[in-house]
Amino acid sequence: MLFRIPRLYDSHTHFLATGELASGLNLQSLKSAEDITNWDLSKESFRRGDWIVGFGWHDSQWSSAPHKDLLDKLFPNKPVYLAKGDGHASWVNSAALKELGLTSETGILTETVHLQSWDRLPKFTPSQQKNNILAGCKVYNNAGFTHVRDMTGSESLWNSLTELEGENRLTVALEENFTCYDLQGFEDAMKLALYAKKHETALLRSRGIKFFYDGSLGSETAYLSKPYHGLPNGPRGKVLWNLSDVEVMIKRTWEAGLEISVHVIGDEAAHDIVALARKISAQGFVGRLNLEHVQVLRPETIQMMKPLHVRCHMQPCHWLSDRVWLKEKLRDLYRYVFPWGALQAAQIPISFGCDSPVEPPSFVANQKALEESAKDRIRAFTGSIEQTHAHPDAQYAPNSYSLIEEGVVKEVVFCGKSLL
Ligand SMILES: [Zn+2]
Repeated sequence: MLFRIPRLYDSHTHFLATGELASGLNLQSLKSAEDITNWDLSKESFRRGDWIVGFGWHDSQWSSAPHKDLLDKLFPNKPVYLAKGDGHASWVNSAALKELGLTSETGILTETVHLQSWDRLPKFTPSQQKNNILAGCKVYNNAGFTHVRDMTGSESLWNSLTELEGENRLTVALEENFTCYDLQGFEDAMKLALYAKKHETALLRSRGIKFFYDGSLGSETAYLSKPYHGLPNGPRGKVLWNLSDVEVMIKRTWEAGLEISVHVIGDEAAHDIVALARKISAQGFVGRLNLEHVQVLRPETIQMMKPLHVRCHMQPCHWLSDRVWLKEKLRDLYRYVFPWGALQAAQIPISFGCDSPVEPPSFVANQKALEESAKDRIRAFTGSIEQTHAHPDAQYAPNSYSLIEEGVVKEVVFCGKSLL
């Protein structure tokens, strides 16, 4: 199969984390908690200030859970922060807890505490940051991507990107979103998004505000309408925000002419947000709503999306990783999982991406997931994958395309210039 994709777009990604993973401490091959004692963690590129920072471990196959004691033995005084590969937890030592002003029996931080701690890690030096950005560009370009939508903006990232574009070294067109975790964080994110909007360039665009409404299916924190594993009165996941606060944020974001992007993985989470957006629209507020992941959606929620300016950002590659436990975890809700076919039938705009560094950026993996999921009771996506993976704006970094043949990236052209 030969694909020629214009403006090959990863519509949901964590750009800097991807670059940091490429040049930093990558723990994806950590075999057990104890295995960490065999690793050399002392390299300069693994440092942020005096912290040791790593990313990517997965403990699903480990015989014992990760614990702070193990890190304390190796590093009694130096703070260590090791983020889990799913982006929803971190493994830290006592020195890190002390610096963060936190207490924890296990040294495992999850969800909001984990994300807020991540934000408080010491900054990279400016030259480390530029190297990480360039490493990120390379990861995307090698996978064929020329356009990315970043979910994790910051002022220093934006400024470094602008500088690199000025130096003619930026090889992706990047849309930026700014994440917030509480209402105070929302004010800061708004300031940044508006600042960036004022300083947009040919390659850099500021889109708006992103927040997490629920968790993930893997951690059973995505908010579902029915209990996990079909357990009567069992847990259905959780939400991280009051809807009254969300209402304030959506109105303010739309009034400022920015987009709101909401992490919604469970069907009930998506339903809450779509119902709220309908209510806000009925009051005369107009703006764009991006729904991130939407891994489970009920048909009535999809119907309710129709009058909204909505786009769903989906990552088929997640299906490849999650397929082994999806049916058991979701039971009755399995029929609503990864609803790209249902969204397409309802003519709701979709964009595809990979959520790197949770999954590596890969058009090929997404194409494979779409093909294989159709054999596993997932309603087939019959639209054009080239179109769904292209940036929708033909004027944005035009003269960009990628050729992918038999799963191999053959050619990447960015703004008329060949990259590979
Ligand atoms: Zn993400």
